[in-house]
Amino acid sequence: MTAAVGPAPHGAGIAIAGAAGRMGQALIRAILDAPSSPDPYLAVRLTGASERADSPAIGKDIAAQAGRDPIAIPISPTVAAAAQSADVWIDFTTPAATRAALNALPGGVKAVVIGTTGFSAEDEAAIAAYAQARAIVKAGNFSLGVAMLCALVRDAAAHLHADGWDIEITEAHHRRKIDAPSGTALMLAQAAAAGRGVYLDDVKLPHTDPRAGLRPRQAIGLSVVRGGGVIGEHRVLFAAEREVLSLSHSALDRSVFADGALTAARWAAHQPPGLYSIDDVLGL
Ligand code: NAD
Repeated sequence: MTAAVGPAPHGAGIAIAGAAGRMGQALIRAILDAPSSPDPYLAVRLTGASERADSPAIGKDIAAQAGRDPIAIPISPTVAAAAQSADVWIDFTTPAATRAALNALPGGVKAVVIGTTGFSAEDEAAIAAYAQARAIVKAGNFSLGVAMLCALVRDAAAHLHADGWDIEITEAHHRRKIDAPSGTALMLAQAAAAGRGVYLDDVKLPHTDPRAGLRPRQAIGLSVVRGGGVIGEHRVLFAAEREVLSLSHSALDRSVFADGALTAARWAAHQPPGLYSIDDVLGL
């Protein structure tokens, strides 16, 4: 068994991938705004950040890019330079960028927090392999509310049987979101399938399904809306003949994901190698 590692004496040094992105900037602000603490398990320091090599943000000050006072650390085009003083790497970018970062991280980085969504099955297998060397926390949604929603959905699906209750998941996001359905919708579908004791792949009705013919009774349906600046809306519908139960979550600000990722980073910094979920971090 691998022993847990102790905290860095001055708190965890954190580097951020995708410093100019919506989540990258929210993460940088979350670290800079975190209250200072003498407790090395709570203290965090911003040590670096990356952007894609052709980004206009390269060379700009990390903090200034996120709307805070400069800290004299430039945004780097390489993972090695951005992560050189980091204990934890937080990555909310694209599947290709996250995988490239996992290949390039220096040995001093003990843990990785992955919020990127849209990974292929092959990507998922590669991430699981990387987790043999480092603690990796990966979640399609880092908000506490969605972690609770998953627990509620699992419980409801276990009690509301497939012969009487259809499960439909709908999600809405801003027009610039690339992957669909969202990582959160897939987490919710996974929770519903787990509650019913079935494999999601066996019952998933993809969002592109034209719904021709009768709806299969065991199916878990996924529908997608894209538009405007919607940060993230998810609804899980349990629909019976004479009643409907609806469980939903709205993200009102990206800082909820950044705060959750920071909680995960503090936790992961002293965990042994392994692939962890947000449930592990929150002890759910
Ligand atoms: P975004 O497009 O605003 O930001 C992504 C950033 O990554 C961009 O600035 C881009 O230039 C940068 N990038 C791309 N390739 C790079 C590379 N090779 N090296 C460094 N930087 C690179 O997107 P966003 O809204 O911030 O979302 C990013 C990801 O996070 C998406 O997959 C999204 O679905 C996911 N997300 C997850 C959660 C969660 O809680 N897990 C919450 C929100 C968004």
